Amino acid sequence: MNFDNIIGNDNIKVLLDNLIKTNSLVHSYMFIGTDGIGKVLFANDFAKMILCQNEPKVCNSCSSCIKFDSKNHPDFMQIDSEDGKSIKINQIRLLQEKISEKPIISNKKVYIINNSDLMTVEAQNCLLKTLEEPPEYAVIILVLSNENKLLSTIKSRCTKIAFQKLTNNELMKYANSNNLELNSSLLSVCDGSISKLLNLQTNIESYNLLDDIIASFSNDNIIDIWNKSEILYKSKDNIIQLLEYFNNVFLEKLKNTKDTKYISAIKIIEDTKNKLSNNANYDMCIDNLLLQIWEEFNEGYSRS
Ligand SMILES: [Zn+2]
Repeated sequence: MNFDNIIGNDNIKVLLDNLIKTNSLVHSYMFIGTDGIGKVLFANDFAKMILCQNEPKVCNSCSSCIKFDSKNHPDFMQIDSEDGKSIKINQIRLLQEKISEKPIISNKKVYIINNSDLMTVEAQNCLLKTLEEPPEYAVIILVLSNENKLLSTIKSRCTKIAFQKLTNNELMKYANSNNLELNSSLLSVCDGSISKLLNLQTNIESYNLLDDIIASFSNDNIIDIWNKSEILYKSKDNIIQLLEYFNNVFLEKLKNTKDTKYISAIKIIEDTKNKLSNNANYDMCIDNLLLQIWEEFNEGYSRS
């Protein structure tokens, strides 16, 4: 089966497979969905299938498959943003130049524009000409997360394929097969995205320290908690992400215990996020955050 190495969106695997089997390809597609769920992997596997010269596809042995795997296929091109900020008109002009030449190995040519929501308006208007009158052998796949950034004239020319976030089970499966650490709190921060899961891994020690702080709220005195919380004081750059983690853990505990102290704790965290975004004194915000949550967890020590 094709798309074997991609987790999730099984209905789209069947759909794309059928488009090839029934010979019902159109000239342009939009692969839409949140970042980090495998859209560009799907687009690449789909391209390889379209270009393969044998049946059943993918054969992995024809010259097309071999060229594709060696990233050296003359009938295939993937365009990415060069500066991470935009895709410019000269990149689209290059695509147009290449696409006008007949295919060399396969009987189709496939062009992927990754993060195509980064195309400038000039680039989009330029692409529109190709979408309006594509060469008969051309297939263009726009991969994107935010379709509001595309001109409606572009969208109306493309067949939309909507990707879903991965389920927790799918993320677990991915984590297990790649030896990644993943618990239910981390899962809720991933929000169905493998790229978020991978980002979390680079920070996994921080999250373990946060678990330690959370476990201490009901036991230790406030001085000990402050002492344990160095991670918060030195994480000014990604504090929002860490606070989100607190929120997710508390939300989960709330669901399991129905204990209202977790509602208060979440409110304290939201207040802290607001204060930080209004440039309140950083250390003081963290001091107060820890003190207030600790008070919620130790009702005997009220502020009176
Ligand atoms: Zn092949």
